[in-house]
Formats: sequence, C-alpha cells, structure tokens
Amino acid sequence: MRIIACILLLLALPATQAVAQEVDTAPPRNEGEGPYQRLVLRGGILIDGTGAPPIGPVDIVVENDRIVEIRTVGYPGVPIRDDRRPEPGDHELDVEGMYILPGFVDMHGHQHTKQSGQGVTVEYVHKLWMAHGITTTRDVGSRGVDWLMDHKARSAANEITAPRMVAFPRFGQDFGRPIDTPEDAREWVRFIKDKGAEGIKFFGASPEIMIAALDEARQQGLRTTMHHAQLNVTRMNALQSASYGLTSMEHWYGLPEALFEDRIVQHYPLDYNYLNEQNRFGEAGRLWKQAAPPFSDRWNAVMDSLIALDFTLVPTFVAYLASRDLMRQSRNIWHALYTMPSLWDYYRPNRRAHGSYWFYWTTEDEVDWRENYRLWMTFINEYKNRGGRVCLGSDSGYIYNLYGFGYIQEMELLREAGFHPLEVIWSATLKGAEAIGLDHEIGSVQVGKKADFVIVEENPLENLKVLFGTGALKLNDDNGQVERVGGVRWTIKDGIVYDAKALLADVRRMVDAARAEAGIPPTPMPMFIETEGPTIIETGN
Ligand SMILES: [Zn+2]
Repeated sequence: MRIIACILLLLALPATQAVAQEVDTAPPRNEGEGPYQRLVLRGGILIDGTGAPPIGPVDIVVENDRIVEIRTVGYPGVPIRDDRRPEPGDHELDVEGMYILPGFVDMHGHQHTKQSGQGVTVEYVHKLWMAHGITTTRDVGSRGVDWLMDHKARSAANEITAPRMVAFPRFGQDFGRPIDTPEDAREWVRFIKDKGAEGIKFFGASPEIMIAALDEARQQGLRTTMHHAQLNVTRMNALQSASYGLTSMEHWYGLPEALFEDRIVQHYPLDYNYLNEQNRFGEAGRLWKQAAPPFSDRWNAVMDSLIALDFTLVPTFVAYLASRDLMRQSRNIWHALYTMPSLWDYYRPNRRAHGSYWFYWTTEDEVDWRENYRLWMTFINEYKNRGGRVCLGSDSGYIYNLYGFGYIQEMELLREAGFHPLEVIWSATLKGAEAIGLDHEIGSVQVGKKADFVIVEENPLENLKVLFGTGALKLNDDNGQVERVGGVRWTIKDGIVYDAKALLADVRRMVDAARAEAGIPPTPMPMFIETEGPTIIETGN
C-alpha cells in the first residue's frame, strides 16, 4: 500500500507540489452560539477547579465572556425556589442536575495539519479537543511560528472553533539558521518574544546555549519547558535545568537521571541507537528502576529541590500508554469512529514515523513498562502531595493517543497514580492556568474570570469516563438495555456555547469521508456503541 501510494505521489508530482504549498488552516467558525449579553446556566452542580467539593444547585450568570454571578439557589433533593434565582438572561441553559467544570487546559498540544505526517486537518484536531472540553492548549510545536500566531489570534477573536492558544515554539524554530553560540540563543529568544510567544519548548542543547537561552527567557518574561531528550540529558538533567531557570518539563526523561546514585549514563545495551525507536522506547521502559528508590534520601532531596523552585511537571502519562498495553490502547473503541485513516496508518509500525516503534513489541517490554509506570506514578503523586504543581498534557497524535480522548485518559492515569478525582480536575484546570500565567483569567469558575466551562450530564468525579466522547457504559435497570451515558454536553469558551456532541458528529463525518476517499468501507459501529447485539470491532485497514 505504502509503495503504491509513493508511486502515485511521484506520478502526480506537479499537482502535489501546488497542493503542498497551500498550508492547511482552520476554517472560519461555523459552530457555537454567543457570546450573549446575559447567559444564565440554571441549576447545575459546580466543581470550581480549586479542589473544592461540588456544590449545587447553582445558577451562573455570564455577561458576554465574563462570569458575573454564581448564586446558590437551593439544596440537593428538594425543588429550587424561583424567588431566589437571578433575573432571566437573553439566553438560558437548563443544566439542572448536570455538572459544570472550568474549561480544561491541555499543556501539551500539537496542532497537526494536512502537511504533518498524521495527515489530519487542523479542524479535525480542534474539534476533537473542543468536544472534550479543552478550551486552552499550550502549543509546544506546530508548523511555522507565523502559522501558530495567526491561529492564536483567530482563536482569541473566536473566528475559528478552537481552544485558546498559548505559544511555546520549539527552540530554534524558524530562525533560518542554526543556533551555534550563546549569543545566537539569546537572539532567537528575543526573535520569538517579538513574534508574540509566551514561552519556549526545548529538547536540550549544550549547557552554554541552554544557560544563555534560559537566562534570556527569564529577562524577556518568557516561560519555558523541556523534553529532556536522551541525547542531551547527561549534560543537563531535570534538576540542573530547573536550577538554571527552566519553569516546567514535559514527559519524564531527565527525572530518573537526576535520581541516579550508582551511574551517570542510563544502562544502554551496546547496540542501542537513538534513532531506532524500539531501542529508544523499549529502554526507556527500564529507566525508572535504575533511579534511586521512592522515598530514599536522594529521591526526597531531588523532589524537594524541584518543588522549592516552583517547577511544574507535565507527565503526559497517556503518551506512553501503548507501551504497557499495546493491544488495549490500539483497540480503544473510539478509534473506529474517530481516528482518521491517515492517522491510523501513521501509528502502524514504521521505522520512519515518530512513536510507531512496534517493530517487535514483546511481553517483556510491556511488563517493564508497567513497573516503570508504578515508580513514575509514585513520584508524581508524592510531588503533588508535597505541594508541587502537576498539570495535564496529552501530546496526542502519536502512539494511538487520539486528540481529546487522550486528555481524558490522562485524567484516568492521574487517578491511577493516586490523585483524588477533585485533584485531577484541579490539575486539569487551575494548575494548568497557573503554569501558563493565565490564572487571573481562566482555570476556575469564579466571578470576574472568563466564561469557559465544561458541562456534562453525569458526575465526572464518580466516573471520569463520562468525559470521553464515547461516554461510559451503563446498564439501565429499568429496561435491561446497555446504554452509553455522558460525553461532554456543552463546551463554553469565551461565553460561546458549543454543542460538544455536534462537534463529534462533525468529526465522524470527516472520518467517514476520508474513509470513502481511501476506498475503506464505512466505519462500523464497535461493540457497545451499537446496542443491537454484539458486533466485532473492525476498523477495516
Ligand atoms: Zn509532544
């Protein structure tokens, strides 16, 4: 298939070139109603994002894009007395008994486009995010910086259906020349600041260059984050980079290295090659056990130092989930309905595609990864318990990790690590807003803040699965039928109300059209979505 596709591409080269120059952009907004002069959400149960328990019924009044009043209007289990309620609005949503949360902050987003390896439109990415309540994304590397700034401005003006964007371009991106000296690094930081970036995403560099870049970023008021790539981690681990002023880190590489006691270099097999991704991800799964054990002196000291530096962790657990159970992550029921054929193709074992490292993934690899997760989760949970900031990032578009759905999986993984569901929501909202310096505007439901909400019919604390676009399975005891409950009902961003289910229907249409175009049979309904008896899950390619 691939070879045929390549030949076809070659034959069609002149036309393809013309298409390639036409960079994929988000279409003008065609969804969402509002903002309203006065929008009233009636009778919901509020989870405000600060760690406080649910309270309700409440009425919430929004004027344009701002929350102006949150009023308790009764008690659970008894009717609401109308005389206590705020005045009518020019638009009202009856959310009685539903749960209202702040809009979610995704700290690790990539806006893939038709030109990315994933072959998806950015509209598809945005709609999956918005349908899962993500109203803010920290972009840590998309196509060009100008493209990102353009989309950021259009999202801020609500001209497109997309989360608010916080720009963290990749270090060195779009500079037009390599960064070889500390002065180059400083110049690039100023260049990106002028473009309107809020921060920088690093992968590591030589210490002189990193130190200069971090210093300049501090002077320019930019925040920073880093994926401590193994190529650079011996020269700067997470504790070292944090001490030079890095404000947050992605994933987890660099943490075990800061915790090494009996080595400096990870135990690489002697035929290891970083560009062989089965080597890279397989050996990563054996890394945490080489670090100082949980609650040892070294482990405690590194953790306490990072917390004292106000350092933020964005673990992106979900990005590695397939490593501990490839079959499960690759067969999640949402793939059949929502994964684009091109994305599916990108995930499959491929020595050239990032994150498609299943050349021969074994029981041994999965067992090691499960142990890796146990040690990693112990660190993350304790970091939170000692007052450290842990945020949610999804890093979707790789490794069977689908936009939107992966973010909710990340919530489940924090729960597995030991977070109370309220702590999960807190991390997903206010802590994320703090880490990007937007907590005065977003992150909690509070008078004066922007009107960003996620509204869901079921209680997400009881079952985080109700936030998945495919909802959660529930047996209806009244009629004996298996039903799907939940799925975000409305996502509200800047006071604009989006029907989350309509966004998902739109995405399904895109997937069906792409399948038709690729000559793949229409998406069959997976088992438990279709209620008329079991169906074998079959995605067709
Ligand atoms: Zn990433």
